[in-house]
Amino acid sequence: MRRSRKVKILATLGPASSEESQIRALLDAGADCFRINMSHADHALMRTLVGRIRNVEKAAGRPIGILADLQGPKLRIGSFADGAQTLQVGQTFTLDDDPAPGDATRVHLPHPEILKSVEPGHRLLIDDGRLHLEAESADGRAIVCRVVAGSRISDRKGVSLPDTDLPVGALTEKDRRDLDAVLASDVDWIALSFIQRPDDLAEVRKVARGRAALMSKIEKPQAVRRLSEIIELSDALMVARGDLGVEMPLESVPGIQKQITRAGRRAGKPVVVATQMLESMISSPVPTRAEVSDVATAVFEGADAIMLSAESAAGQYPVEAVATMDAIAEQVERDPTYAGIINAQRSEPEATGADAISLAARQIAETLNLSAIISFTSSGTTGLRAARERPRVPIVALSPVAATARRLSLVWGLHCVVAPDAVDLDDMVDRACRIAHREGFARPGDRVIVTAGVPLGTPGATNMLRIAYVGADGLGGL
Ligand code: PGA
Ligand code: MN
Repeated sequence: MRRSRKVKILATLGPASSEESQIRALLDAGADCFRINMSHADHALMRTLVGRIRNVEKAAGRPIGILADLQGPKLRIGSFADGAQTLQVGQTFTLDDDPAPGDATRVHLPHPEILKSVEPGHRLLIDDGRLHLEAESADGRAIVCRVVAGSRISDRKGVSLPDTDLPVGALTEKDRRDLDAVLASDVDWIALSFIQRPDDLAEVRKVARGRAALMSKIEKPQAVRRLSEIIELSDALMVARGDLGVEMPLESVPGIQKQITRAGRRAGKPVVVATQMLESMISSPVPTRAEVSDVATAVFEGADAIMLSAESAAGQYPVEAVATMDAIAEQVERDPTYAGIINAQRSEPEATGADAISLAARQIAETLNLSAIISFTSSGTTGLRAARERPRVPIVALSPVAATARRLSLVWGLHCVVAPDAVDLDDMVDRACRIAHREGFARPGDRVIVTAGVPLGTPGATNMLRIAYVGADGLGGL
């Protein structure tokens, strides 16, 4: 199963896509990796989904990445005695430490540390920003607010505090339990929600001990301000436009999306663009023109992956949503303007063997019109650096480590294959040619480029590049 596009599709699983046959249908329609949202899945369901994805992976013979998305410190208000309340613009409304049910004048905010951190003038955005409050006074136990816009407030709605530095780490008690469960369950990526500072990653890194790679969801202004430090400590980034669009002015989100995508590419770390990409397809078999354009923008920008949330998890047209993304991505990548836009964002290689060889491989492949770049990569670093070059020709990433191939399934342009390490140089060229042929990337008589670190199996030591002919039997020759 070879894709004819470089960008990857990450589909969230949920009630509309939990059965093995549904997961297989999403894969066949174009999904490359799957996301399990721990805000909605309990541990038993998470384990069931992981098992079903692994069954599909085995049947399809393709490595599939699984991303477990931790809920993070999502703040919520308490409940009301009589359900939803209607507030008037200009009235005061208090959030306090009293667990008693709320009314039209007050409600419980069950986060004592937040009550202490809010200062007069800070905004409190309830229910994805539908209700906008501004703090007038705060004494550590109660925040007296004025209603600036909106009116409806109801039980357990989320609260965003874009102006307040929250004295909370990225992991709640629930996240810690979820983290232990997902690390024991064969997932490849862990997404961290609402991170604010680079330190937030350290704790998770320590617990994960390499069992999964870390994706930082950029959805708070604090994280945008410290983006470069966060990128350095992350394995991947998500432009989490849902919460980002509440925490920051909506009109700033497209620019921030470009900044994050470009910074990720410069660093050679994958970037996922997420949320509302085909929102109307939750209930409609066709997207809006604006949605098609939004998906196209992310693809033109060279994002590694584009994500579906409710569209694939809970919508009426999950397979159609994946197929639509697939069709948009293929068309964009065929567009005559695409290569120029991608090339314009290319960064200089860093002074390493992996970068020098990735650059040379791209130039040779494009100069000689070769069929593919075949990269041996055990830790995944060589694969990431090869993708960072954004070559026009396909990259086949061969790894003896299944976990590496699965992680890399999220990365732009990499067709990952699990294959045992070669025994010597000739065997390596043979294997590369055979696999490129078998996977549909080269025909007999075609030439490919093989890159590797020799001696084989030494991580991070890419030092070899070779042009090889694919022989009549699919084997390599000189
Ligand atoms: P969520 O994250 O779906 O977990 O909220 C994505 C986003 O905020 O865009
Ligand atoms: Mn979010």
